[in-house]
Amino acid sequence: MSAARLTIDLDAIASNWQRLSRLSRTETGATIKADAYGLGAARVARRLADAGVRTFFVALAEEGAAIRQAVGTGPRIFVFSGHMAGDAQPLRNLDLIPLINSAEQMARHAESLPAHPFGVQLDSGMNRLGMEAAEWAAVRQVGLGASPQLIMSHLACADEPQHLMNAEQLDKFQEMTRGLEAPRSLAATGGILLGPSYHFDLCRPGIGLYGGLPFDEAQPVVTLSLPVVQVRDVEPGEAVGYSCTWVASRPSRIATVAAGYADGLLRTLSGKATLWAGDTPCPVVGRVSMDLITVDVTDLPEEPEALDILSRHQTVDALADQGGTIGYEILTSLGARYRRRYIGAGA
Ligand SMILES: *Cc1c(COP(=O)(O)O)cnc(C)c1O
Repeated sequence: MSAARLTIDLDAIASNWQRLSRLSRTETGATIKADAYGLGAARVARRLADAGVRTFFVALAEEGAAIRQAVGTGPRIFVFSGHMAGDAQPLRNLDLIPLINSAEQMARHAESLPAHPFGVQLDSGMNRLGMEAAEWAAVRQVGLGASPQLIMSHLACADEPQHLMNAEQLDKFQEMTRGLEAPRSLAATGGILLGPSYHFDLCRPGIGLYGGLPFDEAQPVVTLSLPVVQVRDVEPGEAVGYSCTWVASRPSRIATVAAGYADGLLRTLSGKATLWAGDTPCPVVGRVSMDLITVDVTDLPEEPEALDILSRHQTVDALADQGGTIGYEILTSLGARYRRRYIGAGA
């Protein structure tokens, strides 16, 4: 068996949700867009529904199908991109709730699914999704008349608690929703950690569930172990890998492991990342290639059978740092070639 093994701990996801849930007095939902950040939306949604999640969030209506099938008819599924052209059928058939982002979407919704529930997304300063104040003021009467399920906005800088943008967006959101009856939501993972004034009626964490920052108390969720294909001796002065970027300065043992940038192990990890043989760190040498990575195992007492790249020694954020990115991108890049193994209740 040469494919690398990706282990996903469903109990750790449930436990992270419970911990985040305890940080607020309001309902805590779960954001499971992009296939639950690459970890498998159906498995993750089922485990979280068992743990008590009643409200899920996805990016696109198309993502709702697998999740509705996994969790059945009870839980609510909100769609961040709202009601786009062609969405009426999946929204209706799968009982998904679009978060309306513009007057145009509001009109489309009223026309094609007049009695179907919806929410409203407001722009409080991020300038990405949602209605701005003037647009909201224009459609507010009509929108509120139809009793939205949720009014939400998203924070641009919640992972930086000291950033002035947080309080500015909070003020703006409060101003735009003052006096409304509808339930409100502002906080994702970072917003939960900013404290109660950001919690409103519903929190919607994503990354913290999957073991990523800014939730620094998260339990790690993924382990990724890469099998060694071969080990060779390299003499001082010999180079390893594409473009000969690494040259041995001592007699070296080089292990070649079976995963590369096609599996989401970014080429920017070349010459920078660390893999682990149990408790011993081993440096990546030379370029990460499409299917293979070369690692200096000279200092190990024995030839390893596999080397870990994500483990209790190295979180997704630690690996992300080495590759110049964020934990979110490491997770959502995890490739399709891995042998995936789910552990925990419901696995
Ligand atoms: C992705 C996303 C979330 C979840 O954010 P995390 O930082 O992963 O907790 C919540 N709300 C919106 C609008 C999002 O796009």
